[in-house]
Amino acid sequence: MPKIKIAVLGTGGTIAGEANSAADVLNYQDSQLSAADTLAPLRPYLPGNVELLVVQISQLGSENFSTDTWLGLADAITRLEETEAPDGFVLTQGTDTLEETAYFLHLAIKTPKPVVVVGAMRPATALSADGPLNLLRAVQLAASPLARGLGVMVVANERIFSAREVTKSHTSSIDSFGSPEFGCVGYMQNGEVKLHRMPSRHHTMDSPFNVAGLHSLPKVDIVYAYAGAGCESIRAFLSHGARGLVHAGTGNGSISSVHRAAYREAILRGVPVVRSSRTGSGLVSRNGAMNDDAFGSVGADTLSPQKARVLLCLALTLTQDAVQLQCYFDNY
Ligand code: GLU
Repeated sequence: MPKIKIAVLGTGGTIAGEANSAADVLNYQDSQLSAADTLAPLRPYLPGNVELLVVQISQLGSENFSTDTWLGLADAITRLEETEAPDGFVLTQGTDTLEETAYFLHLAIKTPKPVVVVGAMRPATALSADGPLNLLRAVQLAASPLARGLGVMVVANERIFSAREVTKSHTSSIDSFGSPEFGCVGYMQNGEVKLHRMPSRHHTMDSPFNVAGLHSLPKVDIVYAYAGAGCESIRAFLSHGARGLVHAGTGNGSISSVHRAAYREAILRGVPVVRSSRTGSGLVSRNGAMNDDAFGSVGADTLSPQKARVLLCLALTLTQDAVQLQCYFDNY
């Protein structure tokens, strides 16, 4: 059988976490075990032709990730692609911001090979730890020719999700990952890849975003809307150099009259404003709750505020024009 080489990049998180007791699933230290250690329990269950190339990138909880971390990961994948030419990639990380890393890589890296981002909700020391099985499934998916060309995927609790749509939806349950409204793209049926649909939007090879050689991304901040919110956050973000703002709006991305005045200033200063929703599902329709044509804002389509921020960071490397930005939000 031909060898299949999978590069496993470890960054820390609960999947590499340790607690004092096997019964403790909440009070633990994340990012303790090496990626090689987290792979040890599942090695006996990998087919003999699968060879793992393990790269320890960091030991960092993903709440500490930044846009620089994403650039570093994209660079690491690109360099491994050039030097080792693996057949697929697995990235292990904390679940807190896993969906943001996955969507960033989905838009930014240029490979048709499978890239699977995986984490765990319980530390490696727990009774019924979910990490080993999630990681086994991630390697199996990355090794599958069926996963080629699908962009970046997330595997959790035996389901396969596309990076654009997946979100963490529970603080502690092992069934935390889901894709509201769209569902999973398939299942890992006892290790066998069962696909049911394709990712809905362009990605990787078909994306115009290229981060090669970039040392930073434009600063984009998220403004959370709530009853009685003032515009202090908008003013603070602008004065700290925000190049774009994502509005986590109520309902269909509504903007209060207080926020509207501050956003007007931002747009006049050339800082684009993208309207998303804090509701957790649904499409923020252009010219719906707000006349975007007149105001100069952009609708986030179905992207959550944190995913809209990822796309806006990348889109701002190419344009600040609201019409062109809307095109990106309609297609990516
Ligand atoms: N907060 C940690 C992180 O995101 C642990 C969460 C997890 O991995 O599930 O890395």
